[in-house]
Amino acid sequence: MTHLLHRAIHSRLPVAVRGEGIYIHDSEGKAYIDASGGAAVSCLGHSHPDVLKALHEQLDAIAYAHTGFFTTDVAERLGDRLIEDAPAGLEKVYLVSGGSEAVEAALKMARQYFVETGEHGRRHVIARRQSYHGNTLGALAAGGNEWRRTQFRPLLIETHHISPCYAYRHQHEGETAEEYGERAARELEEKILELGEDLVMAFIAEPVVGATSGAVPPAPGYFRKIREICDRYGVLLILDEVMCGMGRTGTLHACEQEGISPDLMTIAKGLGGGYQPIGAVLLSGRIFEAFEQGSGFFQHGHTYMGHPMAAAAGLAVQEVIRRDGLLANVVAMGEHLADGLAKRFGQNANVGDIRGRGLFQAIELVENKETKAPFDPVLKVNAHIKREAMDRGLMVYPMGGTIDGREGDHVLIAPPFISTKGDIEAIVDRLGAAVDAAIGSTG
Ligand code: PLP
Repeated sequence: MTHLLHRAIHSRLPVAVRGEGIYIHDSEGKAYIDASGGAAVSCLGHSHPDVLKALHEQLDAIAYAHTGFFTTDVAERLGDRLIEDAPAGLEKVYLVSGGSEAVEAALKMARQYFVETGEHGRRHVIARRQSYHGNTLGALAAGGNEWRRTQFRPLLIETHHISPCYAYRHQHEGETAEEYGERAARELEEKILELGEDLVMAFIAEPVVGATSGAVPPAPGYFRKIREICDRYGVLLILDEVMCGMGRTGTLHACEQEGISPDLMTIAKGLGGGYQPIGAVLLSGRIFEAFEQGSGFFQHGHTYMGHPMAAAAGLAVQEVIRRDGLLANVVAMGEHLADGLAKRFGQNANVGDIRGRGLFQAIELVENKETKAPFDPVLKVNAHIKREAMDRGLMVYPMGGTIDGREGDHVLIAPPFISTKGDIEAIVDRLGAAVDAAIGSTG
């Protein structure tokens, strides 16, 4: 009997014993294509020799030094690298151990910024419904995924939610994509005015939505409008690129494709590619100066921040991506994946939408393509797809997002950046068979 809580609940999990390239091998000798990088984490696949070498060297040098006493060369170099490639205006890096920690730190930075600058009233956070920003209490409060929040609601700080930018579900007939983007963004302005323009601290959103809705890109112009509104009312813009960032959508940062820069940006998953737990907040020079000229420090901290092993993993992963020109492969293989999905699922009566950017794509399953009605949640279509895919040696990331209060199903595909054409074709083939089998078994 297992003593691990997550195993006790998912008691039928296979035992992973070895990773190699895009494959994970289990204790029975079965190989799985890791077509979701776990949860969009393993951007270089598994056991990349250059990352392993960097980790071994770091371990031999020093595994841990507390940031209250020392800095390390490896953490400094990672900070330099992240700022060299950062969206305009982001000038400092705060290293943490994962995505939720990054979101917590970003929310506290936003609040401290306004305390330092004398705007003590600014405390409201606005986010979007159907969003996920992590599972710690602050990040969970920001998120708008009701299923995750409900039982913890009494513990959550008050946050306010506007509609997601989700064209498949919310764009009106006869409305252009640009008009829809403008309408969706205007909800932010309305919410700021409703709450009081001097009382809103930050708006947080994912540029391309990951886990809750499945690779949903924003409408054109949506984030430019959001940026404008934040500037007009002095609200800080936090972009959560924990899942969609670090190359996943074909540019290092997803916000580059929107032509905007945030005030704070959270990254994690693809930063260290799963080789070590690591996340970071990138913050603007303006926020840093407020801290520097104010209390002189950011009132936060974790034991493992700036961990040398984590920094070594982050630095090695990012160096390989740059050296091997892998962002170009994300773009090329992303197009191949989009084509493959369109061919395999375009005519499928239960695939309502195929979307995404780069190697961050999804299909959305519906019971009725005309009405876009989702499957009844009790059918657990996404869980069936996951099981059928695992049976066929394929890891994808199926989820039930909330669609207007009902659960809908989608499958996220986020393969490693090293994937070849043949790998992408194998992923689409296996996924096609898994979806057919799963939907057949629910009907
Ligand atoms: N933010 C986003 C957009 C995420 O997708 C996730 C995790 O899936 C998180 C935050 C939380 O990251 P972590 O699980 O590393 O705490």
